[in-house]
Amino acid sequence: MLDEIPGLRVRRFAPLADYTRFGIGGPADVLVETGSESAMTEALRALRAAGAPYAVIGGGTNLIVADAGFRGTVLRYTSEQIAVEGGTLRADAGAVLDTVVNFAISRGLAGIETLAGIPGSLGGAVHGNAGAYGHAIAERIRTVRFIDGGEVRTIGREGCGFTYRDSVFKRRGEWIVLAAEFDLTPANPDELSRTAADIVETRNRKFPPTMKCAGSIFKNLLLAELAPCVAAQVPESKVREGKVAAAFFLEQAGAKGRSRGAIRVTDYHANLIYNDGGGTAADLVALIAELKERVRARFGLELEEEVQYLG
Ligand SMILES: Cc1cc2nc3c(=O)[nH]c(=O)nc-3n(C[C@H](O)[C@H](O)[C@H](O)COP(=O)(O)OP(=O)(O)OC[C@H]3O[C@@H](n4cnc5c(N)ncnc54)[C@H](O)[C@@H]3O)c2cc1C
Repeated sequence: MLDEIPGLRVRRFAPLADYTRFGIGGPADVLVETGSESAMTEALRALRAAGAPYAVIGGGTNLIVADAGFRGTVLRYTSEQIAVEGGTLRADAGAVLDTVVNFAISRGLAGIETLAGIPGSLGGAVHGNAGAYGHAIAERIRTVRFIDGGEVRTIGREGCGFTYRDSVFKRRGEWIVLAAEFDLTPANPDELSRTAADIVETRNRKFPPTMKCAGSIFKNLLLAELAPCVAAQVPESKVREGKVAAAFFLEQAGAKGRSRGAIRVTDYHANLIYNDGGGTAADLVALIAELKERVRARFGLELEEEVQYLG
């Protein structure tokens, strides 16, 4: 059915390991890529009408794909146009987030420079409300254009239900982000470039650009939501903007340096797991389960994955 829709690149038994930064994952039955909004909408309608399972991916930088792959269709929206008019920047979901950030900087527009160096696509960043250094992409979003399953719609920021690493798009997994508009503020491009360069330098020390990983595996925790007996064990110096890093609990629970096969927790950051080469999703999932169990046993606390599973 998908082969009959013009504008789609359809591939069968596509190895998803090639589409994830972990370099892990078996094949998708079908991989569909397109930069056409109408072709993506038609594909989605056809899949839904047939009751066929599907999933959406972007840059694969926050994904754990099962060793067996995905029995269904994986969709990738690849349009990557970026345009600016006044203080409004519009970018398509397939654009690399870092390219969007650099585009804004080069036009002297402030507001998203702290997102510099976060890997992945704009669509993935909107889906997970990506952020760093006390800021998140939601702050400057004016509208998001998406397919709600059958129709293309545009909603304002309030409708996106953004919270920490969460959005309505994450809660409604069948929606596909197509584009976003940002309200940005005029600023000196050189100053913005310096801010971004400092951030990227710091990030590259923590996440070497060739490291096969997904950034932080677990979400940080809101101090206000911790049980009083757990909160009492958190030194004040470990609380930033009301949050406690998951790494704090993981480190106390002995996570650093733990491994399963070729999957390892780094010895300098307890919330960073990487594939040292030839690792499997089975080992990755087992190591994540072990870390959760360690934190549960030590603190009675349930860590929640930031990373997303497919298959
Ligand atoms: C080294 C490293 C450092 C990182 N640092 C940070 C950080 O500082 N802050 C942070 O927030 N994240 C960080 N991450 C995680 C990751 O970069 C973000 O989550 C990113 O926004 C994911 O984008 P992606 O395109 O790769 O999404 P993918 O990994 O492909 O997908 C992630 C989720 O988004 C969904 N998705 C993707 N595209 C779309 C779309 N068009 N429409 C609807 N849903 C979509 C997928 O279904 C999936 O559930 C880091 C990752 C790495 C590897």
